[in-house]
Amino acid sequence: MDFALSGESKMMVKAAKDFALKEIEPVTEKIEREDALPDDLLQKFAKARMLGMMVPREYGGIGSSALNVILVAEELAKTASAAVFVMALNNSIAETIHYWGSEDIRQRFIPSLCDGSNYASMAFTEPATGSDPTAITMTAKHEGDHFILNGTKRFITNGHKNGSGVFYAKDETEKVTAYMVEKNTGGYTWSKPWSLMGLAGQGLVDVFLKDVKVSQENILGEPGKGFHILLRWIAGERIQQMAFMTGMGQECLNQSLKFAKERMVRARPMTAMQGFQWMLAEMHASIEACRWWTYRVACMQDAGDDFQIDSAALKLFVVPTIQEVARKALQIHGSYGYCKDYKIERLYRTIAHAGITASSTELQKTIVGSALSRSKDI
Ligand SMILES: Cc1cc2nc3c(=O)[nH]c(=O)nc-3n(C[C@H](O)[C@H](O)[C@H](O)COP(=O)(O)OP(=O)(O)OC[C@H]3O[C@@H](n4cnc5c(N)ncnc54)[C@H](O)[C@@H]3O)c2cc1C
Repeated sequence: MDFALSGESKMMVKAAKDFALKEIEPVTEKIEREDALPDDLLQKFAKARMLGMMVPREYGGIGSSALNVILVAEELAKTASAAVFVMALNNSIAETIHYWGSEDIRQRFIPSLCDGSNYASMAFTEPATGSDPTAITMTAKHEGDHFILNGTKRFITNGHKNGSGVFYAKDETEKVTAYMVEKNTGGYTWSKPWSLMGLAGQGLVDVFLKDVKVSQENILGEPGKGFHILLRWIAGERIQQMAFMTGMGQECLNQSLKFAKERMVRARPMTAMQGFQWMLAEMHASIEACRWWTYRVACMQDAGDDFQIDSAALKLFVVPTIQEVARKALQIHGSYGYCKDYKIERLYRTIAHAGITASSTELQKTIVGSALSRSKDI
């Protein structure tokens, strides 16, 4: 068992730190104000070799690892910016296309996700459901050598930005298939972005497909096997999301330490009081536990092991743990923590999202609990 990061991983962390300071922190206020990310950000990620990290070089990737993606996500997360998800989504969707796609699909869709010219989307949520993929109502009607897709997808990250998306729809057999849909196809329209509590610039839109024609060559994986693709992708997305949470938790501690060292209570810095020292110690221990477990599940993904149950258990632990870290951080800041002038306010709002997206905390309990019940080991 080796807990040391490789030289390459350390370089990635350093590169992510420099990127966050140079490209994200200076524009954070603008992103919050305008609820939009800079147009050139994705290409800057590509230049910094932070896209296509899990796909081979022949498709424009850099053939790195899931571990390095989450190390980058953790470091960028200290900005508490939705910018991290643009990077993470392009990486995880490129990996998914590479894992399941035909050679033709790989060649057509992966390179533009690696060079930052296209935004990837993953579209499964609908107005009536986000947690129950069997209840989706988007239809795909087979006509000759293509399919006609109809229906609405809700809360689709970057659904309005150029590129392609993986859309889940049911054909006449009622089975769910994943289709690669190009966003500039006729009949593809979208709503204005939802206004969110946090994650300014995330760009969540509803997407409306009205008789959208999709070639049968654009089926990702096998027909009727869309759930396998969705569940494996979400499992990977969860690890990235937990890295994002861990990084924000670390920043909560960093900000709290800075504040508590300077803030005087009864003529002494807060850090001199045992009660606050204990809070800081608990925050530190919680974050370390989240960090190492997240790294471990990412390493399972890199080793080709089945990581779906582990990533669900990871989420069950990390979400409430980091939310408690954020609560303590806000408490340490007193009323300043409730003011937008202090970073803790943005961190707290951003941290609130994680129990809902990439499948909810409740569903992780079902995944882990039913796996334990099926287990024959005991
Ligand atoms: C920032 C952000 C980004 C997003 N990006 C995307 C995206 O790119 N693509 C996409 O498709 N979607 C995206 N979503 C949508 C998100 O994935 C869904 O909203 C989420 O899966 C929950 O679905 P829902 O809101 O329909 O809640 P519901 O499914 O209606 O669930 C409501 C509540 O009921 C609970 N619940 C539901 N079923 C069960 C059950 N069987 N047992 C116990 N409890 C249950 C849930 O845990 C939750 O607490 C995004 C959302 C956000 C906020």
